[in-house]
Amino acid sequence: MTASLSLAHRSPAPVGVPAGVSASGALPSLIGLTREAMAAALVAAGVPERQVRMRVAQLWHWIYVRGVSDFASMSNVSKDLRADLERKFTLARPEIVAEQVSADGTRKWLMRFPARGAGRPVEVETVYIPEEGRGTLCISSQVGCTLTCSFCHTGTQKLVRNLTAEEIVAQLLVARDRLGDYPEVRGAAPLAAPEGAMVPGEGRLVSNIVMMGMGEPLYNFDNVKQALLIAADGDGLSLSKRRITLSTSGVVPMIPRAGEEIGVMLAISLHAVRDDLRDELVPLNRKHPIKDLLDACRAYPGLSNARRITFEYVMLKGVNDAPADALELVRLLKGIPAKINLIPFNPWPGSPYECSDWDAIERFAEIVNHAGYASPIRTPRGRDILAACGQLKSESERMRIKDRRALEAGAAAAASADEGASDGGAPDRGAAPSQADLAMRAMVSGLGD
Ligand code: SAH
Ligand code: SF4
Repeated sequence: MTASLSLAHRSPAPVGVPAGVSASGALPSLIGLTREAMAAALVAAGVPERQVRMRVAQLWHWIYVRGVSDFASMSNVSKDLRADLERKFTLARPEIVAEQVSADGTRKWLMRFPARGAGRPVEVETVYIPEEGRGTLCISSQVGCTLTCSFCHTGTQKLVRNLTAEEIVAQLLVARDRLGDYPEVRGAAPLAAPEGAMVPGEGRLVSNIVMMGMGEPLYNFDNVKQALLIAADGDGLSLSKRRITLSTSGVVPMIPRAGEEIGVMLAISLHAVRDDLRDELVPLNRKHPIKDLLDACRAYPGLSNARRITFEYVMLKGVNDAPADALELVRLLKGIPAKINLIPFNPWPGSPYECSDWDAIERFAEIVNHAGYASPIRTPRGRDILAACGQLKSESERMRIKDRRALEAGAAAAASADEGASDGGAPDRGAAPSQADLAMRAMVSGLGD
């Protein structure tokens, strides 16, 4: 179904800041900071110590509950302080380079983030999948990926860099901005403290998030942790940890920390039941084989019938879709509270696999269902805008060291010539996508709990 695909478009005006300028401009952003870091930033900016707790609570509420992107709207903050904050900090969003809407309502945004240090601005994709009763946002954790799973388009793009906590949280804020997913601000409601604050309950447009976009979240642990704890903060974005899913290709040593320190739902990209095949499909398996991965799953804290691990299994024709594979899958998962998601393979330009035939998928699902697992076959969403699982890829490229050095030297020279020129990298205009490229971009859409 591609007929009613709305055209990818350049947003009429950049949202936030001009291309190539830091999302935070020259000013530091308050988005994505822990409360402690925000408090420290306020103190450094001259806010009296005795006020800091209250100010953090106010800001937290305006930023995450109300979704404001400027200090001027913060009606319960004194005028002088608002002006001071405006001068010293920013809440600007990243630029939206393109926004696409699929025939099935799936939306995809291409967002541009500034260079961090030497390098160019980078682009990542974020996907929104509306369903009855929930709306899932699929968030990226890295630009590109260090891993090279053979069926995944992102895996063909080298890692450019990790996203910061600010950039991970910003994906959520941009989606909520664009969807209008904030409670209406009626008049100038005084918000002295977050307690009793209007917190969106039922009916939120973004009700679930999945770390299933570009990148391997457990290779960017600290930033992902900080961002997800902000997303789950009960005085702010307030998403239940049961509605947040982190998907990993199997970074075994980090799984216990994910459970203990983040405590969100876990999804494992399993895709094969024998090490020889998994070594091929998910090369990280050579380092962390299936047995070690499943042992880490068994030990994941807080598992129960109501809190299960999701095992993702991409259906590749003639590769991993035989009835014997399904039987082995059931045997392997014995004793682990598990859900199984069968994902029809989403092709991308040049991909070396085909999606399994429908009969094969049904046969596989039957065996799994018979063993007592609900195994929804995930209907691909947003295929028409290349927003489905494993189709995400951006044009951002890793720079060669030589080019980075030249850029750094150039930026340093420019900065000494002009104090205002603080952005370290030229915008990635050379690699900026054409309209046709945009339609070809691969993206992931993940589905939450
Ligand atoms: N790096 C993490 C999260 C991102 S990928 C991980 O690998 O788990 C999100 C999901 O999409 C993973 O299960 C991944 O294996 C799956 N996927 C990747 N490419 C796919 C494709 N072409 N078709 C269907 N699913 C794919
Ligand atoms: Fe990276 Fe996940 Fe794609 Fe593998 S499936 S290459 S880990 S994004």
